[in-house]
Amino acid sequence: MEQITIHNLPFKPFVTSDKIAKTNAFLAKRIAEDLGPDEEPVFVGILNGSFMFVSDFIRNYPHPCHVSFVKLSSYKSLDSTGVIKKLIGINEDLTNKTVIILEDIIDTGTTLEEIYRIFNEQNLKQLKIATLFFKPEAYKKELPIDYVGLEIEDKFIVGYGLDFDGLGRNLPDVYQIDK
Ligand code: 5GP
Repeated sequence: MEQITIHNLPFKPFVTSDKIAKTNAFLAKRIAEDLGPDEEPVFVGILNGSFMFVSDFIRNYPHPCHVSFVKLSSYKSLDSTGVIKKLIGINEDLTNKTVIILEDIIDTGTTLEEIYRIFNEQNLKQLKIATLFFKPEAYKKELPIDYVGLEIEDKFIVGYGLDFDGLGRNLPDVYQIDK
């Protein structure tokens, strides 16, 4: 792996695709052990960044499961009192289901908290959070993260679904900003 440049910014090799594959296998094994073979969980990937992670993770999950994707959309409320966040993409009834949120990366935790709150309003059996990357130094929330793939320092990364200004999602490996 060599250094790359996106929009004139240098990025250095950080996590290889091989290490990511091992991390996915480890996460799937742990979650499968906790849930057991009969739970039929609903894995919910948060778009856009989680698409690669979810598609690889799910191939490692050994038991029957559902897969869905959601996106958090922000829009201004009609009376202009602020920005309302809404999840788009979930149409099925999740009552009494075990839902596992699959995040590509958790940084400050703001996005996650919004998503968690929206899911938690439904009558789920249980709600858990799994993330491929977690930045503990940046995390500002109380919500416990149930499954963490890799803890990383508080620096910007790209690749494997994660973008910098729309670019870099297609990279099989992950790169870290080099400055
Ligand atoms: P939050 O601060 O709410 O936890 O993170 C929000 C979103 O910012 C993440 O879902 C992700 O899309 C983006 N993000 C946070 N840290 C990084 C990073 O290091 N690289 C990239 N590409 N996106 C990030």
